Amino acid sequence: MKDIAEIRSDFPILARKVYDKPLVYLDNGATTQKPQCVIDALTSVYTTYNANIHRGVHYLSDKSSEAYENSRERVRSFINAGKKEEVIFTSGTTGSINGIAFSFGERYINPGDEMIISHLEHHANIVPWQMMCERKGAVLRVIPINDNGEIILEEYYKLLTSKTRIVSVAQASNALGTIVPVREIIDAAHAMNIPVLIDGAQSVQHGITDIQTMNCDFYVFSGHKIYGPTGIGVLYGKEKWLSELPPFQGGGDMVDKVTFEKTTYNELPFKFEAGTMNYTAAIGMCAALNYVLDIGLENIAAREQELLSYANKRLSGINGLTIYGNSDRKISTISFLLKGIHPYDTGMILDKLGIAVRTGTHCAQPVMDRYGIDGTVRASICFYNTKEEIDALTSGIEMVMSMFS
Ligand code: PMP
Repeated sequence: MKDIAEIRSDFPILARKVYDKPLVYLDNGATTQKPQCVIDALTSVYTTYNANIHRGVHYLSDKSSEAYENSRERVRSFINAGKKEEVIFTSGTTGSINGIAFSFGERYINPGDEMIISHLEHHANIVPWQMMCERKGAVLRVIPINDNGEIILEEYYKLLTSKTRIVSVAQASNALGTIVPVREIIDAAHAMNIPVLIDGAQSVQHGITDIQTMNCDFYVFSGHKIYGPTGIGVLYGKEKWLSELPPFQGGGDMVDKVTFEKTTYNELPFKFEAGTMNYTAAIGMCAALNYVLDIGLENIAAREQELLSYANKRLSGINGLTIYGNSDRKISTISFLLKGIHPYDTGMILDKLGIAVRTGTHCAQPVMDRYGIDGTVRASICFYNTKEEIDALTSGIEMVMSMFS
């Protein structure tokens, strides 16, 4: 693995200062910083071959279409999907889940049907399903979590019934960091012929993803959380589902033949890609995936787990600090509160020290309700962070505590 100095020098923003202090960026769960190769890939599109994809016969359009389709192939092999046609580009995780919730609802959901999510979900994996349930007269069921922030599998098994049409859960919680046992969840649903969507927004960047081994029916993630650009995401779906589902958007490129009487749709994956796609961001995401592959997903996972246990050790030594989410299996995210201190105050003081953390509900209000709290402070660590930065966070927290004592 590259050494840490070399890794950090790949990310230009990490060298900047904030309020004249070195930036300590611990908000990677919200979005990650971009390596130079991603920035270069975007510049290269705009400076050398920008043209709309799949549209023209001219040289530039050919070049950009080819780069876009190469990105699709890169995503396919990155997640080990069986076919390129099973990889749909979207605007992000939110776009992917909304799309499936709409299409699946239209095709398969009837009044009285049920669908299952968990108490850990990000709003992006709650609200689109709620909207679908409202539209279709279906019922949303929620798998409860225990005090450690883990899904209670026995309760999940009880929720699976002949009325269940789909299950949708995150592979890792953005609010607590819990890694969810998706294999057990998928296997139990499949035993009853129920498809499962896995929200990989907080997991795909932390280790190897193998769709075929996982055997989920849909898998979604965002480019910007895996060191790629904003505005691009992935919706993987098994061909057997995608070929049955209706498109969730209509427009250019997703059609075969259009008349005022009837329109027939394009083949997969184009059926689900209406209008001008964010091909620039897709090409940028390809560079990001190449970058993490080059570092090695196993190396990334090992380094992040080491940083997580170091951070756990440092933070749990602070009197008055409570960590929320204490599962044995976590991504490198730590949510915490300081006794008697509002998370916004903690976040604001840390900010003045150059330390970027996230405060609030993390778009997971039901998780906060579960613990009876308004929000937390969240440090989300990734492989370009260092133990020195975790030391800086620890001293920053100690300073906050002394200011409020
Ligand atoms: N699901 C999870 C678990 C997330 O962490 C996020 C982003 N915080 C989303 C979905 C939504 O991702 P995006 O905003 O990139 O669409």
